Amino acid sequence: MAPPRGDASAAAEEAMLAQLEKRPVCTILIIIAMQTEALPVVNKFQLVEDPNTVFPEGVPWVRYHGVYKDLNINLIWPGKDPSLGVDSVGTVSASLVTYASIQALQPDLIINAGTAGGFKAKGACIGDVFLASEVAFHDRRIPIPVFDLYGVGLRQALSTPSLVKDLNLKVGKLSTGDSLDMSPQDEATIIANDATVKDMEGAAVAYVADLLKVPAIFVKAVTDLVDGDKPTADEFLQNLATVTAALNETVSQVVNFVNGKCLSEL
Ligand code: SAH
Repeated sequence: MAPPRGDASAAAEEAMLAQLEKRPVCTILIIIAMQTEALPVVNKFQLVEDPNTVFPEGVPWVRYHGVYKDLNINLIWPGKDPSLGVDSVGTVSASLVTYASIQALQPDLIINAGTAGGFKAKGACIGDVFLASEVAFHDRRIPIPVFDLYGVGLRQALSTPSLVKDLNLKVGKLSTGDSLDMSPQDEATIIANDATVKDMEGAAVAYVADLLKVPAIFVKAVTDLVDGDKPTADEFLQNLATVTAALNETVSQVVNFVNGKCLSEL
């Protein structure tokens, strides 16, 4: 007897995913929120800005692309806010560009790269580059059963044990919220999330990647220590240039490692 339709399509989807895991990664989507973080990666891989945008007309989102070894690399930067001229950081832009980029480019793997705040109590130092094992939100408080879990929105990153070992990366949990500073409520949730690093995009990228079933990894370089004694904004700006260089180096190593490998080999 044929299985009920739901089972059949679930089985077909599983078979397709298993098949995908057996062929080398071909198209990668790198999502980076800030221009200062993105340009070194653009230059390193000699990516060029796409003159025929795959995005709706008028949006500030920028796609840089190029072929590197066996990979088709797309780097998406959400661009400058049209009215204020600053980088479009945060979860709203991040989720929109992730959605539009997946629809347009059908990537095999997403790499969300960027800077982050780190917790020295959890072993983070300025300039460390972390690979996130899991990501969650810390500013979506909904104290109603089950909605509370929806708010936290915990998601696993693609498991990449070989990548972690080969590149000798630090691994930690990432917590995302739409503020650079940290309120006492945010702090309590970040502690509950057991996070080592804190950013403004990761969990939003993870949400969309999970919805559309694209594996994602998160590479986060520490610009400031949230539990240190310097004001976050000053420390962030002071370290941005040097830490961005470390981020670029690690993203390059990750791309080189991914080249020629299947998802299951990562
Ligand atoms: N004043 C900065 C603002 C950037 S917002 C500017 O030069 O425009 C900070 C960006 O870096 C976000 O994309 C966020 O993901 C990341 N980030 C770095 N440190 C952070 C921290 N302590 N908390 C949250 N996000 C942080």
